[in-house]
Amino acid sequence: MSTDLEILQLHEWFETGGKPLVIAGPCSAESEEQLITTAREIAKVPQVNVLRAGVWKPRTRPGEFEGVGTKGLKWLEMAKAETGLKTTVEVAKPEHIELALKHNIDILWLGARTVVNPFSVQEIAEALKGIDIPVMIKNPLNPDLKLWLGAIERINAAGINKVMAIHRGFHYFGSSQFRNAPMWEIPIELKRLVPKLPIIVDPSHICGNRQLIEEISQKALDLEMDGLMIESHYRPDEALTDAAQQLSPNILAQLLDKLKIRETKGDILFQDKLEKLRTEVDKLDVELLQILAKRLEIIDEIGQYKNENDITILQMKRWVGIIEDRLSIGKELGLEEQFLKRILNIIHRESIQRQTDIFKRRG
Ligand code: PEP
Ligand code: MN
Repeated sequence: MSTDLEILQLHEWFETGGKPLVIAGPCSAESEEQLITTAREIAKVPQVNVLRAGVWKPRTRPGEFEGVGTKGLKWLEMAKAETGLKTTVEVAKPEHIELALKHNIDILWLGARTVVNPFSVQEIAEALKGIDIPVMIKNPLNPDLKLWLGAIERINAAGINKVMAIHRGFHYFGSSQFRNAPMWEIPIELKRLVPKLPIIVDPSHICGNRQLIEEISQKALDLEMDGLMIESHYRPDEALTDAAQQLSPNILAQLLDKLKIRETKGDILFQDKLEKLRTEVDKLDVELLQILAKRLEIIDEIGQYKNENDITILQMKRWVGIIEDRLSIGKELGLEEQFLKRILNIIHRESIQRQTDIFKRRG
């Protein structure tokens, strides 16, 4: 998967003093009092840069609270004027963009339910043409990196180069302690594909409860993600949406204070040591692959020999002996039994496959 994106790095357009970008605010704007009071309290938390609130809420079923609409934008504008915090809101249609701009919203975001639909994303992209505003793109509900990347590409192609991704976890059918499984390998792969793209982690929607938010936030920072979006409400238990996962501004402040921002950049000694260790790992990986290739070459020779002498491929006794022997060597070297079994099985399967291929070719 190759990408052709022209994206600005976060520090090129947003000053955070080298710290992660922190976005906080209620899931939904509910009333003037709720939003302004929450904003005032959040503004006292020094780490927070941006105030969030949803005013159009995509709900699973009709009849649930669907957001206060345009009047919520007015409250966001008032909160911004009073606190100096920048503001961000979710947009799902072209008219939302127009209204958000009228109310001086600083950053827009596309929600997970919008990103699953390329028609909606394209419509929004068209409406963004000629406008210079940062846009954050949440991952789609389902774990589909291409769909996420596709939305980022569509928005970027509309001329938006201040683009960020928001990792909010993925719908997962199995049982999980999270509301949306983090599947970290997906945002990490996104970072690998588009190194300049800032990725903000939304622990609130990943966790779905208050208990796990700190752990996920720390993990995000340890994985060098660029920031956090955390839902915060002045009376979390009374929130009209996502009550179980919202934090009071006070708890938010305590949580942010506890997070460790591990300095990797600039710490030359640390980087140097890390680089040396990585180089060693690189060398070992090459050796490992060379040894594997050599082993399979010999397996091919054995296959040919068996074929010429009409001997069957699998000799169970030999395989059982190998397992016993390698397990005991591996255990002595401090390797886990389950790990050894898995790796031996993979190697064995490949060996059998190669010999089967030889038998097929030679008849
Ligand atoms: C939200 O941020 O409140 C929201 C609706 O999130 P998501 O689109 O990630 O479900
Ligand atoms: Mn929410």
